Amino acid sequence: MSETSITAETCCQDDSDPHSLTPAAALSRILTTITPLADTEKATLGEALNRVLAEDIHSRIDVPNCTNSAMDGYAVQGADIPGGGTRELRIVGTVFAGKPFPGKIESGACARIMTGGVMPAGADTVITQESVERNGDIIRIDDRTRPGDNVREAGEDVRAGDRILTQGARLTPADIGLLASLGLAEIPVTRRPKVAFLSTGDELRSVGETLDAGQVYDSNRYTIRGMLERLGVETIDFGVIRDTREEIERALREAAAEADVVITSGGVSVGEADYVKETLVKLGAINFWKIAIKPGRPLAFGTIDHSYFFGLPGNPVSVMVTFYQFVQPALLRLMGAKSEEPLTANAISLSSLNKAPGRVEYQRGILGKDEQGRHVVRKTGAQGSGILSSMSQANCFIVLPMECAGIKAGMEVEVQPFHGLI
Ligand code: AMP
Ligand code: MG
Repeated sequence: MSETSITAETCCQDDSDPHSLTPAAALSRILTTITPLADTEKATLGEALNRVLAEDIHSRIDVPNCTNSAMDGYAVQGADIPGGGTRELRIVGTVFAGKPFPGKIESGACARIMTGGVMPAGADTVITQESVERNGDIIRIDDRTRPGDNVREAGEDVRAGDRILTQGARLTPADIGLLASLGLAEIPVTRRPKVAFLSTGDELRSVGETLDAGQVYDSNRYTIRGMLERLGVETIDFGVIRDTREEIERALREAAAEADVVITSGGVSVGEADYVKETLVKLGAINFWKIAIKPGRPLAFGTIDHSYFFGLPGNPVSVMVTFYQFVQPALLRLMGAKSEEPLTANAISLSSLNKAPGRVEYQRGILGKDEQGRHVVRKTGAQGSGILSSMSQANCFIVLPMECAGIKAGMEVEVQPFHGLI
């Protein structure tokens, strides 16, 4: 990997910087550097959430494995449904879910059937219990039901031999349920990457300690841990590292020896003591990039021994923006997950948004709907890169493209929602 160190430092207020990489170029360089982990293992279904499938999964069975009733009602021959008026049928048996009826349904007969009950031979239609009149062993039916109604065909969900999930899928609750419906107890998955993370800064104190003037609590380790845990990777917390050459070198060596990925925050911006960069350059092949993105311009990326290294900025919002835009796709690739572009949508901005051309901005927004049902978004107040409450209140990023020179209220913007259902 080639090393590019920052020589001409630019000020963070300076938006157009010819030495900056576009976010797309930075991401593509990161993704081409990363080789997915080759090791695979078996996970029990109970542990498989968020794991990445190492192989395609084919079904060995039909789901459902028998044609069965979708409703509580009566199983009949469709041909017995009258074209008009009513008709009487005699109940000859009962079918519970899991307890089939051994007999056959002839014309003029029916079986009481519960949801999930196997359709008895001869019957092809279920008439719901609400649409019959029952008198002892006799039901009276009318013409409201169509032949074939209220029946779930064998194999209508999955057929034996079907490929139901593909290699690289990150298992969602729906996927896990689907795998369970096939009776699979263990799933081939890729190994979980080990990710070590640490914070750098002499001013940082850990939660529980008291703050002197000018000190701040180390919040980045908590946001980073949370973002990592959501991805389902193994985390190793290396704590707070003081800004000394020795401590940084020791921590980075230990972290790289233990983990597949090392993430630090702080110490990569302009004005930081040189030994942070110096140590990184000494230990590995590291690029120091300025990315045309706000917040989060400085980013260090490279390798230390066999580990990948991400040096995120120190400012708490920059940490989250750079993690989601660069580290998360990188970790997903390392896990062997199929790449997925983040979901975006358009919304009308209710706020005017300040912006200078030259960088892609990820402002923090609250996405909702107006009375006409249109998607609207408003910003979460002040947008400084240290204002973590702007992330906490937000439910989306408002993504403003490089050339955008500001947004007036009423204009359309692109948003990247934070949450999906599955
Ligand atoms: P740096 O990149 O180290 O110059 O840090 C930039 C800003 O982020 C400074 O105001 C730091 O105090 C703040 N910062 C750095 N690391 C953390 C952290 N772990 N938690 C909260 N704030 C931090
Ligand atoms: Mg610092």
